[in-house]
Amino acid sequence: MSEVRNVIVIGSGPAGYTAALYTARASLNPLVFEGSVTAGGALMNTTEVENFPGFRDGIMGPDLMDNMRAQAERFGAELVPDDVTAVDLSGEIKTVTDGAGNVHRARSVIVTTGSQHRKLGLPMEDELSGRGVSYCATCDGFFFREQDIVVVGGGDTAMEEATFLSRFARSVTIVHRRDTLRASAAMQERAFADPKITFRWNSEVTELHEEGGKLTELTLRDTVTGESSGLTATGLFVAIGHDPRVELFKGQLDLDPEGYLAVASPSTRTNLPGVFAAGDVVDHTYRQAITAAGTGCAAALDAERYLAALE
Ligand code: FAD
Repeated sequence: MSEVRNVIVIGSGPAGYTAALYTARASLNPLVFEGSVTAGGALMNTTEVENFPGFRDGIMGPDLMDNMRAQAERFGAELVPDDVTAVDLSGEIKTVTDGAGNVHRARSVIVTTGSQHRKLGLPMEDELSGRGVSYCATCDGFFFREQDIVVVGGGDTAMEEATFLSRFARSVTIVHRRDTLRASAAMQERAFADPKITFRWNSEVTELHEEGGKLTELTLRDTVTGESSGLTATGLFVAIGHDPRVELFKGQLDLDPEGYLAVASPSTRTNLPGVFAAGDVVDHTYRQAITAAGTGCAAALDAERYLAALE
């Protein structure tokens, strides 16, 4: 039987590494499962991060995550580049199974598995991510000053992204598959009233075109007539939703109505004692590195207090 740890952290984005840093500095000797493919989380796939406080001149996403990782390790966090494949979180001693089938035990678990933004699934989409294609207006809008931008989607997020982007852009075109929006009436009205925003109804993006490795143009298809047309754009913001990584926890941890892990806000407590959740697997509102790091810190402090009360 493996030893019983104080805390296991699942996930290695800003939330996971911050939880690891805080629990390590509290001498709780955390075991951190980083994931086998994407250790470091979502920021490993981006270039410049300009809005993480403390880096006056910005920092590359992978460098920021390497720093967070090294900082957690410096205080004794034990990092494992493997996936968690099963969990049993119900008892006082929780079990976590890794990719090799080893079972690890702990009194508390912090879940920080993040969320995956939905992609359009087009050829070139991954290659042009960070080179014209983006999934986060708050993160990248500033890079698109005076440019022609397309936003894909018809929900609240798409309207919010479009109205935010219109502050920077020369023009914003919302491309939507249908001729009505899912967004709330208030969000729709804001978008309709914005002189920089126009709509391409009944349309979907079918091809991305580049020059010198950067997005230059899109091909759109009319979903009613089937006709294709071109649209010049150097920015494409895909706002068609996110999928929180909750599969492992279904049936054990409660989800909120949007399918994210439910916590007793403002704490990070889930429905099970000793299990805490932080970052984008909980948050469908802010979705920023700094907010993920902030709730990762809160989860570590919640776990620390929970463990202290057990003694
Ligand atoms: P994530 O960063 O998603 O990390 C989750 C981690 O959990 C991953 O490493 C994953 O491998 C791991 N994991 C999942 N399942 C398992 C499992 N079963 N076992 C083990 N590990 C697992 N935010 C900003 O503030 N500024 C920006 O400029 C910015 N730019 C962005 C650019 C891009 C392209 C993207 C996609 C996002 C950007 N964001 C930005 C948002 C930011 O990256 C996220 O809000 C933040 O990373 C969320 O942190 P997290 O720790 O909750 O999850």
